[in-house]
Formats: sequence, C-alpha cells, structure tokens
Amino acid sequence: VRALLERRAVESPDAVYLIAPETGRQLSFSGLAQAAATVDALLQAHGVASGERVALLLPNGLQAVSLFVGVMAAGRVVTPLSLLAQPAQLAWVIEHSGCRLIFAGSEQAATARAALALSGSAAELVVVDADGEVAMPDSAAEAPYRQSAAPAAGDAALLMYTSGTTGRPKGVVLTHANVCAGARFVSAAHALGVSDRVLAVLPLYHINAQIVTVLATLQHGGSLLMPRRFSASAFWSLAADYRCTWLNVVPTMIAYLLDGTDPSAGGLGLTRLRFCRSASAPLSPEHHRAFEARFGIGIIETMGLTETAAPVFSNPLAAERRKIGSPGQAFGNEARIVDLASGTVLPDGAAGEIQIRGANVMRGYFRAPEETARAISSDGWLRTGDLGYRDGDGFYFITGRLKELIIKGGENIAPREIDEALLKHPAVLEAAAFGVADAAYGQEIEAGVVLKPGLASDEAELRAFCQRELGRFKTPRAIRILSELPKGPSGKVQRLRLQED
Ligand code: ATP
Repeated sequence: VRALLERRAVESPDAVYLIAPETGRQLSFSGLAQAAATVDALLQAHGVASGERVALLLPNGLQAVSLFVGVMAAGRVVTPLSLLAQPAQLAWVIEHSGCRLIFAGSEQAATARAALALSGSAAELVVVDADGEVAMPDSAAEAPYRQSAAPAAGDAALLMYTSGTTGRPKGVVLTHANVCAGARFVSAAHALGVSDRVLAVLPLYHINAQIVTVLATLQHGGSLLMPRRFSASAFWSLAADYRCTWLNVVPTMIAYLLDGTDPSAGGLGLTRLRFCRSASAPLSPEHHRAFEARFGIGIIETMGLTETAAPVFSNPLAAERRKIGSPGQAFGNEARIVDLASGTVLPDGAAGEIQIRGANVMRGYFRAPEETARAISSDGWLRTGDLGYRDGDGFYFITGRLKELIIKGGENIAPREIDEALLKHPAVLEAAAFGVADAAYGQEIEAGVVLKPGLASDEAELRAFCQRELGRFKTPRAIRILSELPKGPSGKVQRLRLQED
C-alpha cells in the first residue's frame, strides 16, 4: 500500500483523489501522502508499533480515508469497525483484534467509549473530526518523527471482520499483497484509469468500499466522490454534478433507487457514466432489468468476499457478453466447483461449493488456526461456503450459501429461489426466506417481506402467489410483512436474525 501511495504522489501529485461533496473539501494524491505521513507520526506518538492493530469507527470522508490508507502505509494494521454495530458487538471485535488505538468520529465517541468499557481492553481512544483533515494533537507535535519502515508484501495490512451474515464475525487477515491484488483485479476488470471517477457511497467499514473504491482508485489513479452516506434522493444529482464515470452499489441500493427516485434521473446529463457495479449480495434479475430499462445504465454484477479482498467474479465490460443472474466469470483468481460430499472437482453445469485460489486469498482467520485450516486447503483453495455452478461459458451462478440452505424433508432448497419468486409479486420490495425447525420436515420455509410504499398485500395473498410460482412444497409456511429486513453493513439480509425473531 505504501508503494501504491508513493507512486501516485510522484506521478500525479496534484490530481484530485477524493472529493467530499458536503464540505466541498478535496484531497489530492500528494495531500493523501501528506495525511499518511501525519498518521504515521500520530501512531508513533501514541506508541503503536509496526504490525499492531488500529481500529477505525467513523463515517466516510476525508478523515476516514486518510486514516485507512495512512495506517496501512505506516505498516500498522487497520481494523474497521461498523457504524451499525452495537457497543457489545464492537467490544468483542476490539478485544479479539487486540487493537492498541481506536480512532472515532466525534459522533461515534460515545459508542466507542461504551464499547471500550464493555471490552476490558486497554486501547486508547482518539476522537477526530470526521469531515476534517488528519492533524497532530499539540501534545504530540513535538515528538521526533522518522517515517516508519515500509511494510513488506506479506505483512498484514487489514484485519477485517466479516459482516456476520452467517454467524459470529470472523477476523480476516489480509496482507498488503492481498489487498493490492484485489485493487488490481477491480481496476483491470472494469478497465479503470485516471479519467474515471466513482460515486463511492458504500461504507468504509466494508471490504467492498475499502478495495473497490479506495484502494482500486489509488491503484489506477482515478478519483472518488465520497458523500458521508448513501441517499437515494441525492444519488443521481451527485453523479451528474460531479461527472462520475461509474457507480458502485449493493443490490439494496438498486431497489431503493428504483423505488425512490425520479424515473427521468437517467436523463440528468449522466453521459459520462459508463456502468453501475453491483456486488456484495445477489442482484435479482427483476431489479437488474428494471434498473437498466429505467435509467439506461448497464449493470455489471460482480461477486466478492472479505476473505478474497473483495473481487472473485465479474461480468465482462462488453454489455452484450454479460449474463443477468450471474456475478460473472473468474477474474484475476482461479475458481472451481467442488462436490460437497466427495471433494472432487465437478464439471460445468454441476452444482457444488465454489472454491477460489489466487493472490487475493487471505492469509487466514485471526487467532483461529483451526478455522483457517478448515477454510483454506494445503494447496491454497479457499472454501467459500457459497453454492453454485459454472456454465459452459465460464459464468458462475450462485444458488445459495451452505449455512443458509433450507433442508425440508431431505430436499435442499435455496432461499434465493423463494426470494426471487416473492420479488415477482408487484407489491413486494424486498424478500428473504429462511429455514425454521419443524417436527415433521426437519425444517420448514418461512419468509419476511417488505412491501413497496403505498401498495398492499397480505400473507394469504402472498402465499397463494407463491403456490402458483413455486408449488405447494416450496411455498413458505408463514410470510411476515415487515417494515424492514435485518441487514448487515453491505445491505446483505441477515436471514439468521429473521430466524431468531
Ligand atoms: P459472514 O461470513 O460473517 O457470514 P459475510 O459472508 O456476509 O459474513 P462478506 O465477506 O461481506 O461477509 O460476504 C461475502 C458473501 O457475500 C459471499 O460469500 C457471497 O455469499 C455473498 N455475495 C457477494 N456478492 C454476491 C453476488 N453477486 N451474488 C451472490 N452472492 C454474493
């Protein structure tokens, strides 16, 4: 990461790297390098040694990006903390990561203090202005400063806890080589370059934003337009006013943009927009087609994992070669489908577990050697826990996740199949099916749905609709109408939480 930063600061020192639209503040590549040097000095002043963890709890903006890049460039390890997490969850991460220092925005300071108190950790808390620039406290300004040694490719750069969609978060250790590989794959997959600008609305405490926007942009030398958070109503005018060339979103945002924004948005002078990238969760073909028809902007669906520094699959740039319903072909890394029972590699068309091997695959789970050994084979294949198959053209299709699979009467049912059926109903905005214990079948299917504002339906009608779409066996036993679905930071539905409620 240090080398990426230094290269940009030398090659294009004055080029704009980041724009924060709320304050109008900008950061050039040389400005980022200066901020990183200040972060290095700050870490030294606080006695944080190379390789030690530094947690970040703050909203998107200049400060968050400077700290994120600066900590890694200084050879310390970033541990991003989720703004959506409760103090008890944060306490667990703070303790598990053994972080020495926590940077929190002023609005997050109370949460950080509460988490620290619960954790029993001795980490120090530094409160910063999330919209401001990185600065040395007066007390530390006197400390002598010499730039820290550059981290090696194999050193840890990021300790990123997974979103916990399928259980307790796992601490994924990504090296500098891993995160730079992820950034390279993203830039190459979408042919990104210095004239590209991404509307970066995803939160920086998720792997997608870290690699796909922040580090990939540092790698290819483009720029980031980074509002504090996603807002459907401000989305299109930001993209138009700042002449963005691509959008980076998750499927939930596509649903909200479809539902909540002016259909004429596509005509807002968005001529520079090349594509909209979707990742982090399956994008329903319904929403994919509706978005392209409504806004006239092609979607490139991709797939990534924390364990692979984001990207594993991507659809091609050429619109006519993309396949709706697939996150694309292996890009940068290798991929294969393996039979769950026998462990043999399966031919095209046969479904099994997706495995990935490449420079982007994590070093392992932090302080969890057994889980690491279960996840990565001796010859480097990562077991993703995702189920799917590959077609004859090398496109992968995801049928579900191992831990979310519903097994009813011995029959494997992918919750996604039920979700897709419910999404065809005109009043359904979002849907998530999940398994619940059942005496007769072992598991039964239930689902939660969110209705589109202003449209009505009820459980009986939705179940009758499912019967027509899916047949009796796969029709959920119960369908709850909810005001929202429980989601993680990337907008991925947490089916386990629905199951618990
Ligand atoms: P945990 O591992 O703690 O349950 P998590 O898996 O949600 O959390 P992430 O690493 O953010 O944490 O998510 C990776 C997963 O997201 C993938 O394994 C896959 O199941 C899912 N995913 C990402 N993109 C897509 C996509 N385009 N289509 C289908 N699934 C996707």
